[in-house]
Amino acid sequence: MSKKYRIGILGATGTVGQRFIQLLENHPQFEITALAASDRSAGKPYAEACAWKLPGAMPESVKQIIVEPIAPPLDCEIVFSSLPSSVARETEEAFARAGCAVISNSSSYRMDEDVPLLIPEINADHLGLIEVQQQKRGFGKGFIVTNPNCAVVSFAPPLAALHRRFGLESVVVTTLQAISGAGYPGVPSLDITDNVIPYIAGEEPKVETEAQKILGVLTNGAIEKADFNVSAQCFRVHVIDGHTASVRVNLKQKPTLEEVIETIQSFPSLSLHSSPPRFIDFCDEPSRPQPRLDRDAGNGMTITVGRLFPDNVFDYRFVTLSHNTVRGAAGSAILNAELLIDKKIL
Ligand code: NAP
Repeated sequence: MSKKYRIGILGATGTVGQRFIQLLENHPQFEITALAASDRSAGKPYAEACAWKLPGAMPESVKQIIVEPIAPPLDCEIVFSSLPSSVARETEEAFARAGCAVISNSSSYRMDEDVPLLIPEINADHLGLIEVQQQKRGFGKGFIVTNPNCAVVSFAPPLAALHRRFGLESVVVTTLQAISGAGYPGVPSLDITDNVIPYIAGEEPKVETEAQKILGVLTNGAIEKADFNVSAQCFRVHVIDGHTASVRVNLKQKPTLEEVIETIQSFPSLSLHSSPPRFIDFCDEPSRPQPRLDRDAGNGMTITVGRLFPDNVFDYRFVTLSHNTVRGAAGSAILNAELLIDKKIL
């Protein structure tokens, strides 16, 4: 049997931490050997520290693991971090310095110029930054890679398809983001029930900048960001899981509708363990995508695109959707780790 990598999860009791534990159960390449969270949880068996909120039972294999504080050393070689950004920066650096591969969901390092911001199907070559990072920061064998903001993941894939073939000029995006994106307990029920909230703290700047780094080109150890502007408005809506984005684009070339659909539909998937059969699923049913119906496509790893039409003001418009705690967080981080193994960086 091939080697299983030892995994530590930081923020293991939270919304994303629980999703990691669910997705890693019976994973052929990884075994959970350490769990860490705040002082509230440290010292307790996981079953006691964590109020499990996902469907199905908490996996037996983690119940008796004693939750530790978020400081190295932990018994692991890969760290999946789902910490609030307030503590992530210092903690993730400490683990990288201690020799761990740190794979982070938090926003702390995403835009640092020597840190890969990965969607494996789009920019696996950005892993070339790891060597630059290790040298610059004196990390030794440890390093940090990140996955994008959960709303950005929902629309960056169709943008990547269009940008590669036709060149993006400008993008306007309106996101409709699920409640679970705010963690647990998250948004108070009296604020979100029967309501739409036109503000998510700190979200619009992330949605306006991350795609340009993801679609950037790595040359001479640095990423030249893609040259288009994004204008974003972000809303919290009364949906439990699944972020929707309404997108309008102007393109440098002027393709036909058929060419646009074909380009989005044919964007290739990978063949890693957690890769979905289809990375982007194009749906021409007029009322889709919908969070309840489409968020679990490809085990939550597929991006669903629909409502694609020529627009009266922009060139094209479409609606896109992804599962925020799977493709938008834990599932993406696990895919990043599988990519690191595939590329022999781990
Ligand atoms: P959450 O449900 O609030 O969970 C936070 C976790 O971090 C818990 O395990 C908590 O431990 C721990 N924690 C909180 N404060 C801490 C501290 N001062 N020291 C040590 N541990 C601390 O949040 P979440 O939704 O899982 O989000 C975690 C991170 O992932 C955030 O950076 C978020 O932006 C990012 N993210 C979230 C999503 C999503 O859809 N939710 C998607 C993408 C990225 P205790 O239980 O012990 O308090």
